[in-house]
Amino acid sequence: MQLIMLGAPGAGKGTQAAKLAKKFSIPQISTGDMFRAAVKDGTALGKQAKSFMDAGKLVPDEVTIGIVRERLGKDDCANGFILDGFPRTVEQADALAKILDGLGKKISCVPNIHVPAEDLIERAVGRRICRQCGATYHVKFHPPKVDGVCTDCGGELYQRADDNADTMKNRLSVYEASTRPLIDYYKAAGVYVEIDGTQSIDKVTEDLLNVLTSVQ
Ligand code: ADP
Ligand code: ADP
Ligand code: ZN
Repeated sequence: MQLIMLGAPGAGKGTQAAKLAKKFSIPQISTGDMFRAAVKDGTALGKQAKSFMDAGKLVPDEVTIGIVRERLGKDDCANGFILDGFPRTVEQADALAKILDGLGKKISCVPNIHVPAEDLIERAVGRRICRQCGATYHVKFHPPKVDGVCTDCGGELYQRADDNADTMKNRLSVYEASTRPLIDYYKAAGVYVEIDGTQSIDKVTEDLLNVLTSVQ
């Protein structure tokens, strides 16, 4: 099963992708996570990506497409994958179609987690991530049992540098201009499904699983 999670920044793509990846035993491929790991490790990729991420802009397509092409060629993608945060531009979507063609695969379904713009800043600003296992929490909507500590692994929680109201404004306008057009793109391809992302985390997962029962 080849899935693309669509949605604005903070809509809940990563949260849902992680749950589905576990359920279907296929990898969650998050370009944002890959860039953050590269920044942390100080690699050449990280150096290229950092200024764009800090400004809430997209990392250039040629960089982003290259890392996804390499990742999708790995053995663990043989039975499927969940793309989370890619594609984000029509150019990336076209490149993805070519990559999948080359691998003899196609997109099974593109759920779009829809959350109104006014909720997204609160979601992103309250987001906390485990340094150790990557689990995502929210100070209000999905708090850990102990403040600042991952319930799953005991790791320390941190706030992403770009999860502030200012950068979020840029990220949301980039979403409107560059990523929203993918809704029509995947509607035209007949693989688009809209999911109500304002519901609880578990209810969103339930809706996704219902949709995916009829998908290969
Ligand atoms: P994205 O990957 O789309 O940017 P995340 O999955 O990281 O979004 O979620 C953004 C924030 O909102 C996180 O703090 C997460 O815990 C929280 N969140 C995710 N889904 C929901 C939901 N259905 N209701 C309330 N908060 C949510
Ligand atoms: P969110 O889902 O909250 O927007 P991500 O973790 O997906 O956050 O992305 C964080 C940042 O990483 C983006 O603002 C952008 O700078 C960069 N990034 C992630 N995915 C892509 C992509 N597909 N194309 C270009 N830049 C990306
Ligand atoms: Zn953890």
